[in-house]
Amino acid sequence: MTQERQNLIVANWKMNGAFEMANSLLEEVLNGTRQFKSPSIVICPPFVYLQHVAQLIESNSSVSLGAQNCSEHSAGAYTGEVSSNMLKDVGCQYVICGHSERRQYNGETDEDVAQKAISIIDRQLTPIVCVGETLNERQSGKTDLVIERQIDSILEHCEKQLVDRITIAYEPIWAIGTGRSATPEQAQEVHHLIRNRIATLSQSAADGCRILYGGSVTGENAAEVLGQIDVDGCLVGGASLKAAQFIEICRAAQR
Ligand code: PEP
Repeated sequence: MTQERQNLIVANWKMNGAFEMANSLLEEVLNGTRQFKSPSIVICPPFVYLQHVAQLIESNSSVSLGAQNCSEHSAGAYTGEVSSNMLKDVGCQYVICGHSERRQYNGETDEDVAQKAISIIDRQLTPIVCVGETLNERQSGKTDLVIERQIDSILEHCEKQLVDRITIAYEPIWAIGTGRSATPEQAQEVHHLIRNRIATLSQSAADGCRILYGGSVTGENAAEVLGQIDVDGCLVGGASLKAAQFIEICRAAQR
């Protein structure tokens, strides 16, 4: 049985920003989305701006705070790392984990990503677990295999009752920051695959799980991809730094 899933739009600022930018961008975004009853919005600034952004969005119930990464460890001698406890302390409700840029530049493995997701869930936060294939993998017909491997790694580590606490973001690597978004049909096909995979562990978790699409989403193409049955929101990089674009994406995500 399918159920109504509220769209979620996540802004991944990556390593961009400054106090001034956070102030002006957020002011515009908060003003521009105030009249929308949905979607839920999550802002993920760099770590050092989390607390500042938390204060700016404090009174806005439809906007939450998220982080772009966290350590899989809870505390200790891990210089430069930030734990999910600390993220909860500063007001985060969501944490992106396993973004392809972290897999690529920081060598994060499926196992690392699963451990991070567990530590995030343990703190009662919501992990936004990113999965996605390279262009080479897609062109050689390996998309399904890669996605299934990435999803299975999460499912293997999660107790059945925890699976419904996870949000997934399908982000084909060839679409991130390239201006070449997946077609709505390509996105739907992979989202359906992900939902079916989760259903092997729990049908109710599969029905309730939000699966976001990410990869060159803009104000112009958001509505089409959001119109797909298994697309429950977007993870937005570049366009989240442009207030007008981001507001358009949120407008398209209203249900
Ligand atoms: C991302 O980095 O998560 C992303 C989707 O980036 P962009 O929207 O710029 O493709």
